[in-house]
Amino acid sequence: MDTNGQPKSPINALANGHSPAAASERLQIINDEKKFTPDLGAQIERWGLRDAGFGYNIVAVFGSQSTGKSTLLNRLFGTTFDVMDETRRQQTTKGIWMCRGMDMNVMVMDVEGTDGRERGEDQDFERKSALFSLASSEVLIINLWEHQVGLYQGANMGLLKTVFEVNLGLFGKNATNGRTLLLFVIRDHIGQTPLANLQATLTADLNRIWESLSKPTELQDRQLSDYFDLAFTALPHKVLAADKFEAEVLNLRTRFVDKEAPEFLFKPAYHKRIPADGVAFYMEGIWEQVQTNKDLDLPTQQELLAQFRCDEISTVALAEFNEQAKSQKRPVEAGRVVDGLGEMMRNWRTDALTRYDRDASRYHQGVYGRKRVDLITALDAALSPLFLGQLKNLHKACLVAFKREMLEGLHGEGYNFADVVFAARGRCLGRFEATAAEAVVEGTDWTWEDEMISLKEEVGSVADQCRKDETKKMINLIERNIKKQISEPIDLSLNKAAPDMWDDILRAFKQTLDKAEVAYLTKARSFDCTEEENSHSLASLRRRAWQALRSKIDEQTAEPVLLGKLRGHFEERFRYDDKGVPRVWKPEDDIDSAFKKAKDETLNLIPLYSKIQPTDPSLEYTLPADSIELPADSLSGSGEDFDFAASLIVLTETKGLELTQKFRREADAYYVEAKRSTVASIAQ
Ligand code: GDP
Ligand code: MG
Repeated sequence: MDTNGQPKSPINALANGHSPAAASERLQIINDEKKFTPDLGAQIERWGLRDAGFGYNIVAVFGSQSTGKSTLLNRLFGTTFDVMDETRRQQTTKGIWMCRGMDMNVMVMDVEGTDGRERGEDQDFERKSALFSLASSEVLIINLWEHQVGLYQGANMGLLKTVFEVNLGLFGKNATNGRTLLLFVIRDHIGQTPLANLQATLTADLNRIWESLSKPTELQDRQLSDYFDLAFTALPHKVLAADKFEAEVLNLRTRFVDKEAPEFLFKPAYHKRIPADGVAFYMEGIWEQVQTNKDLDLPTQQELLAQFRCDEISTVALAEFNEQAKSQKRPVEAGRVVDGLGEMMRNWRTDALTRYDRDASRYHQGVYGRKRVDLITALDAALSPLFLGQLKNLHKACLVAFKREMLEGLHGEGYNFADVVFAARGRCLGRFEATAAEAVVEGTDWTWEDEMISLKEEVGSVADQCRKDETKKMINLIERNIKKQISEPIDLSLNKAAPDMWDDILRAFKQTLDKAEVAYLTKARSFDCTEEENSHSLASLRRRAWQALRSKIDEQTAEPVLLGKLRGHFEERFRYDDKGVPRVWKPEDDIDSAFKKAKDETLNLIPLYSKIQPTDPSLEYTLPADSIELPADSLSGSGEDFDFAASLIVLTETKGLELTQKFRREADAYYVEAKRSTVASIAQ
């Protein structure tokens, strides 16, 4: 309680803190220094009216001091306005008080001190409070004593003149939007003069006042009834006819409460269409304009109100939205593909817009619409990184899954490469498309198609790489087979050293290579290889086959091996006879001739070994040009230039001479040994 015995203003009112106790709180919205309270918004919330939308009413009372205004309001609306204490007769302070009607969505304004005229004060407050009340109230109760009726020059008539004037200024051009009910409540009605007569007198007075107003030219023809509805009621004397008084007050109350009553007073046409959650801001704006004596332009006020409130509503909606969106920000930033992200985003967005629409759509439609566009922009700007993050993560995840599936699919034998790629690719792109499309929020210009194109390209190049690796593996395998298959024929032929040994070797080589090529082409069909890739692989295969052949030959013609072969050849001819029986030399044997024959025959083999040259020219093998000029890449193994002609030479001339030399020396040793054996046999 403050010093005046009023409840404290609810500055720190809780957001939803209205309670039965709060319902009876009252607030001085304009004090005697003509200051507007900063607490009205919070108080309306405490009254539980903040979310009423248009579902509330505002009524104000005007009239001379001590005519029982507060008494009437308290009885009609269950309010708690101060009533003058009979015993003290204290002067009530100027200002406007507001209460919430008990059990009804009504804001009741008790306008005190509106009869400055009567008290010889300036009429400034009277005018300002009239403007203020007309801009917001649906019903203006004009309270007067019965004996004041007909006193055309009386104080209350001056007040009415003011009301009419300011109303013209406020709603002049736009009567339909600002219709107000003037309810005349005649107090202490004795009953001698029927209400109808009083009503007639008052109506006549009102019209006279209306006529006397100096109206702007464009409004000359306007009638009082264009702006106001008039209603009249009389109440018996509160003290002298207390019961009747209370009964009539109850009757009047019904007309404020019962929407179905034929004389219901809060007609929708009187509503000033300020949403309940904007009333405080609106009233404060109105009072500010009134106070600074600026022209009170209601459309501008309503637009200002709309801007302020739509911004506020939008901010709240956006904050709640951001709170929701935050939950998925971290997972997306951490690289996760969030299941059902699109649905979540759509829900958050719809929630935010629904919240905004619910509260903001009651305001000026142009402003509401513009701020809605701004809100959508802000929502989408907040969602867009989630969408893009999801796409990026999805792209990555799909590619990883594709690679894994390829590896699994290409494991072991018997797979069909093209089938594996087709299936893995289908699953990868299918998942991407479904998840990406799910994440799109309707109404945005978000697209995922470009991302999918780049994923397709990457999938393609992974598949290509796999195919290359697989091809390489296959060629390696085929190469190993070639080596295995040519090894024995080469051993045999090189050992036998028949004159047509190269014919045999080359024939075996060609057969093996032909088979290998067929094997390659069969397998390669499932790889979806291009012609170019096939011919490249075959070129490589041929060269590697040839190199395998050559290294086998090298192995078999290495000096010690070849010397061994020559030695064997020589021994067979010199140390064994035609029947393969070891010779025992006798002195009469012609060792020299036998030695020379065996040695010459053996030495003749060296030129045979020296060059890969079949006797049958049709068996000559020439490595195709594309096998010789293989580009340096992983498939061919080595990219250095290959000298095919040189590869036909097994032993160079120098090497041949060197071998001849070494062999001669060995052969000579055999000769000496043979000679010695005959000497020894003589000596026995
Ligand atoms: P306000 O200044 O217009 O708000 O008047 P109040 O409601 O404070 O009442 C002023 C005095 O008039 C109080 O002493 C009331 O008891 C008395 N009063 C209230 N209503 C009536 C009425 O209908 N008739 C008479 N004669 N007195 C009343
Ligand atoms: Mg009062």
